[in-house]
Amino acid sequence: MTDDESLECGRTVESVCETVDSEPDAHQRDCPYCGEVRERLKQLDRLAREAKEADSSLEIEPHVRRRIVDFARSNLRRGADIPVHREPAATVSFSEMLIARTARETVDTFPGFTARRCRVRTIATPDHGHQILGLSIGVVMAPDAVVENLDRNVRDAVIDAVARKLGAHVAEVDFTVEDVHYD
Ligand SMILES: [Zn+2]
Repeated sequence: MTDDESLECGRTVESVCETVDSEPDAHQRDCPYCGEVRERLKQLDRLAREAKEADSSLEIEPHVRRRIVDFARSNLRRGADIPVHREPAATVSFSEMLIARTARETVDTFPGFTARRCRVRTIATPDHGHQILGLSIGVVMAPDAVVENLDRNVRDAVIDAVARKLGAHVAEVDFTVEDVHYD
């Protein structure tokens, strides 16, 4: 699991995800990092389509599913699965990317704060019950934002949003103010 979503070129995996269905822009055409992620996403998409077709013909082919899981694990590094709920019969997994995105979107709803990167870590791995997660979020703030709000409001909102939308249990959220942004 890597510790941030930025590529070596400074763009994010998410920016590539969002544009994967359209033509690459000038940067993406020349950038090996963006290009690599783009290729991986396309490959993942192909594998997912194969699985879907196998499913709809009611022939669930385990090898297709296996390939997708293996591919996702080994190649799409930012999408590492994190099991968030463990029960004897079921493990629900959410990707690190999804958890990080939910956390960032929540931070962004607070005026004056913009989330940059979000690292997800597992704090404890119980045999049963909820996996407990910790988040480290880098934040850019406006000069007039009240930094105490991170502790007063934003942390609880992030914990609440991840629980409500994903059912994941976040116990710790650390914020790092990485920059002050003047418009
Ligand atoms: Zn790039």
